[in-house]
Amino acid sequence: MSLLQQIPFLWQKELWDKLTSEFRVGKLAHAYLISGAQGIGKELFTYGLAKFIMCSAPEKLSACGSCTNCKYSGEGGHPDTIALTIEEGSRDIKIEQVRSMSGFLEKTSHTGRAKVAIIANAHRMNTGAANALLKTLEEPTENTYLLLSTHLPGSLPATIRSRCHKVSMQTPDQKTAIDWLSLHIPDQEDPLALARSAQNRPLYGLELSHTDGLENQQQFLNKLVQLSAGKTSIQATVALSKKIGEQIVVRYLIQISIILVKYLLTNQQSSELEPGQQELLSMFQPGKAVSISLLLSLMGYYDQAQESHRQLLSNTNPNPQLIMESLLWRWSQLSRSIPTR
Ligand SMILES: [Zn+2]
Repeated sequence: MSLLQQIPFLWQKELWDKLTSEFRVGKLAHAYLISGAQGIGKELFTYGLAKFIMCSAPEKLSACGSCTNCKYSGEGGHPDTIALTIEEGSRDIKIEQVRSMSGFLEKTSHTGRAKVAIIANAHRMNTGAANALLKTLEEPTENTYLLLSTHLPGSLPATIRSRCHKVSMQTPDQKTAIDWLSLHIPDQEDPLALARSAQNRPLYGLELSHTDGLENQQQFLNKLVQLSAGKTSIQATVALSKKIGEQIVVRYLIQISIILVKYLLTNQQSSELEPGQQELLSMFQPGKAVSISLLLSLMGYYDQAQESHRQLLSNTNPNPQLIMESLLWRWSQLSRSIPTR
């Protein structure tokens, strides 16, 4: 069974029931903004919802799976559904894409049912694209639905957010993530290790499994622990980053800074973390009291890592080595500022 056929996943059930029930009674809003962590299947969820909206013989709260419309939806090309994605080599969703989407929504639908536009990673719309979208949001056409999703809702203009119905998708608990991963990864792999590395985000865990990501992530975290302890050089860490891939490594750095801030702020138990993450956390948390300046530095680090990620994805000839040197130098400075036990 494809992943799309499995929508809704267990942790999406509540949100699914709410939206499909609203659709059944004709109360589905024109536009939704679905927020939630990366790697929990938000985009697949919007495809699943589009399929449900298009289905000509829906069962109670699910698409029938066998009508012509469902077959089109399953093959990724329902003629009444459009999905905007970031084009190859581009860093943004562009104004031309939004304009062609609006043009598409204005035409009559092929099936006479409805039209659906999906915008995943909606925070990646550039200013022009967001302004163009605003027009469509302000003047909705009948029977058209916009499904936006993002893990960074705060990065969208307030004007867009205020015109969408905001709903959030929860990250599952660890047991749910492990159960789901066990069904989707090869037998020899460890679902607990994947769930820990992925912070219980099942689809991200699956991606780690597909790309040798778990091993790479553990290797990089170990290197980062060494760097923080002054036991390896920035150059050696840059070399490992090149081997794994700079874009991937920057994502690890983004993730680890989020984890550190979250755990330091809440003083949570770290039993849900994997060993490398736990080790870093204990390095950053020498005593009970957490210094505000360390938290602020970590948040600043997160911003720089996000910006580096954008640069690496851009088509302006970024220099990965320089970007990594700068990020890792700052990391080593950051870990030096930790008060000693
Ligand atoms: Zn159907």
